[in-house]
Amino acid sequence: MMSTIDTLTTAERLRSLLGDRIVLPGDAAYETARLPWNRAIDQRPFAVARPESAEDVVAVVRAAAATGLRVAPQATGHGAGALADSDLSGAILVSLAAMRGATVDPETRTARVLGGSQWNDVLAQSTPHGLTALHGSAGDVGVVGYALSGGVSFLARAHGLAVNAVRAVQLVTAEGHLVRASADESPELFWAVRGGSGAFGIVVSLELDLLPYADLFAGMLLWDTTHATAVAHAWADWTRTAPESVSTSLRIMHFPPLPELPPFLSGRSVVVIDGVVLEEDDAAVGILAPLRALGPEMDTFARIPARELVGVHMDPPEPSPAASAGAMLASFGDDAVDAWLAAATSTPGLSFAEVRHVGGAASRRPDGAGAVGSLAGDHLLGGIAMVPVPEAAPAARAAVHGLVHAMDAWLAPSLALTFVDGDVSRELGFGDAAARLRELKAIYDPAGMFTAAHPVD
Ligand SMILES: Cc1cc2nc3c(=O)[nH]c(=O)nc-3n(C[C@H](O)[C@H](O)[C@H](O)COP(=O)(O)OP(=O)(O)OC[C@H]3O[C@@H](n4cnc5c(N)ncnc54)[C@H](O)[C@@H]3O)c2cc1C
Repeated sequence: MMSTIDTLTTAERLRSLLGDRIVLPGDAAYETARLPWNRAIDQRPFAVARPESAEDVVAVVRAAAATGLRVAPQATGHGAGALADSDLSGAILVSLAAMRGATVDPETRTARVLGGSQWNDVLAQSTPHGLTALHGSAGDVGVVGYALSGGVSFLARAHGLAVNAVRAVQLVTAEGHLVRASADESPELFWAVRGGSGAFGIVVSLELDLLPYADLFAGMLLWDTTHATAVAHAWADWTRTAPESVSTSLRIMHFPPLPELPPFLSGRSVVVIDGVVLEEDDAAVGILAPLRALGPEMDTFARIPARELVGVHMDPPEPSPAASAGAMLASFGDDAVDAWLAAATSTPGLSFAEVRHVGGAASRRPDGAGAVGSLAGDHLLGGIAMVPVPEAAPAARAAVHGLVHAMDAWLAPSLALTFVDGDVSRELGFGDAAARLRELKAIYDPAGMFTAAHPVD
């Protein structure tokens, strides 16, 4: 914490160094500039910087060094719950929201993406060429925050984690230098940032591989929760033999009665299976047959344009207040399914309980991978509790952690970092890479300038 005199001095110096690229408490723009996508997080940084170019980012990092402040990069604030573990009172929140846009090279099947870009920005450019990306369930999630912390997509069992599709990053280091890191240039930094993410610098652009899918067989099946026991056991059995072309999720979802929700969700508890079957239509229909035999009241599985995959999981279209927690399961046999059903249906305040089928290519570390390159465990557990008013936050956190604790007996010694929302050690997420990441952090950022959603030190 700084004294008032220090605070004033630092604020004045920042203003003189950065002019209108910095927003300070008391400025009219501060209250909106500090807002993350996850509205449950009341982040109050020392200042917010809103760079529009790589040169602006360099200026911000140098100004932070000159004034003794730390910097916390943020693209959208979907991961603000994880960043909330860190004290931002002595940090400049660097909002990259103005640095969005993607260009696609259809010949090399790659995209170059600015540091604040969302997956929708990539898809807008890639899908006209019949190309898609290893994006997650929501199109407004940031590419950098998602991809550099692993990134679990609905193509993960076939094509692995999104982090392994990253070919190069351009980032501003703690010394305020703009550097390119790839397999050939600054390879150690390239290794570290693929997992270490914002702990190693501010990414101003990133290059990643795309995939040649113009359309996909994808959709969702929905039942009332009165069918949850039958559906959950059937899905868990089915995942044991589902080929790697299939990535799906099982959820129990509790919706309040809200007029903005469609009638099939408003005021209801439902069980939903959704995802992708990367097969020709006939084969996909055959693979889904055992689930369809359970008589869902809704069935949207069909061939859809790849661009529409971001709508399948029904993620909120607007910034939302929520608490979440995640873990990896070592197994999801009958006992585990029963424990999950009990927690998912009876934990007070829990909005959504999810198990995603991963494994396959997501569990294999490819040659040349970075610090994070694979996920041990076939099933990823996730819980979300909405936080309609700030006072509800402690109960929401208790609900999502309650779901994870209910599965203690089946937890795997690994963690998908993108599903960690604070309050949890990141050590399992970094796995064997944790010690080397700490060593490289001491080399690349010895003063601990970068404050990240997933600290490595
Ligand atoms: C609705 C929703 C759906 C989701 N679906 C999935 C999913 O399907 N699969 C999955 O794996 N995850 C999913 N996530 C989790 C998501 O991947 C993480 O929250 C991720 O951190 C979001 O990245 P962001 O850039 O949007 O968030 P931010 O909060 O902006 O960033 C998170 C962290 O990333 C780093 N960062 C971001 N941009 C930069 C940059 N330019 N330079 C340096 N560091 C940077 C920083 O350390 C920052 O603290 C979902 C989250 C939500 C809320």
